[in-house]
Amino acid sequence: MDYKKYVNIDLHIHSSASDGTLSSSEILIQARKQNLGAIAITDHDSIEGSRKAICAGIPPPLKFLTGVEISATPPPDFFCSGSFHILGYGIKLNDPVLNQTLEMLQKARRNRNPQILNRLNHLGMTLSLKEVENEVREGLIGRPHIACLMVKKGFVKSIDDAFDRYLGKDKPAYVNKFRIDCERAIETIAKAGGISVLAHPLLLNIEQYEIMEDLIVTLKSMGLDGLEVYYPNHTPEHINHYAALARRHDLLMTGGTDFHGLLKPDIQMGSGKGNLNIPFELYERIVENTKNETNRFF
Ligand code: AMP
Ligand code: FE
Ligand code: FE
Ligand code: ZN
Repeated sequence: MDYKKYVNIDLHIHSSASDGTLSSSEILIQARKQNLGAIAITDHDSIEGSRKAICAGIPPPLKFLTGVEISATPPPDFFCSGSFHILGYGIKLNDPVLNQTLEMLQKARRNRNPQILNRLNHLGMTLSLKEVENEVREGLIGRPHIACLMVKKGFVKSIDDAFDRYLGKDKPAYVNKFRIDCERAIETIAKAGGISVLAHPLLLNIEQYEIMEDLIVTLKSMGLDGLEVYYPNHTPEHINHYAALARRHDLLMTGGTDFHGLLKPDIQMGSGKGNLNIPFELYERIVENTKNETNRFF
């Protein structure tokens, strides 16, 4: 039996190094239990999750790619109201420029959290940084952790409600975050031996096909290697559309669930909302294209 034909992969997973609730070891155990063929841990602006997975040891026959999800700004002249994130795969974890860049992004996140809490306090919600820290197992604090505490304290009904009313873009407690520009994100990933991928294109909120296509052309000229074609809220039509876009522009196709554990309770590792199947061959194409020899885990 050709094992690879029957296994799925998940190349977009958050660990407790950022805003996921499972540790890297727990993710590896769950991936094996679900018989996934390959995974990548892609924490927001951090490679700690990937580092810990490698330290824990990748249980065979599971394959693993190092990963990161970098918060970036779109190219000049492209406005998007959604989340512009660049994923990096197969990156060298000891690359100095990558590490310095991530440290800068982490520092910006640490500066931002007290500002968000200050706004919430002014809106009448008493929340302290200490209380939020108690919500976090180990890693970087993000808005989902603040949202979680808001639910616990009864200020909002759910994490989504917290984002919809207070924490989302342009909502009263929103504080903009420092991001690096996308060209720098793409270059940094390439120099660390990895491949760069535009994450969850649907979440950019770019409705016009022509603008999306122009964006892809611009990013490709900056060195972008791939597009996240498979994602939980992509319909089969979206998947076909993004796959065609990737083919037209000679981009690798990737996919993942954006699993966050309990912080996104409707999303399961490996299957998203239950119906996502990401073929193993996408992992194989990525590995063939990864420049970095040292961080491959076959
Ligand atoms: P931050 O990293 O602090 O900017 O927060 C971004 C993270 O918040 C995303 O990666 C998601 O995990 C989560 N998020 C963003 N928007 C929403 C939303 N509308 N509902 C629930 N979670 C969200
Ligand atoms: Fe997140
Ligand atoms: Fe993202
Ligand atoms: Zn993500």
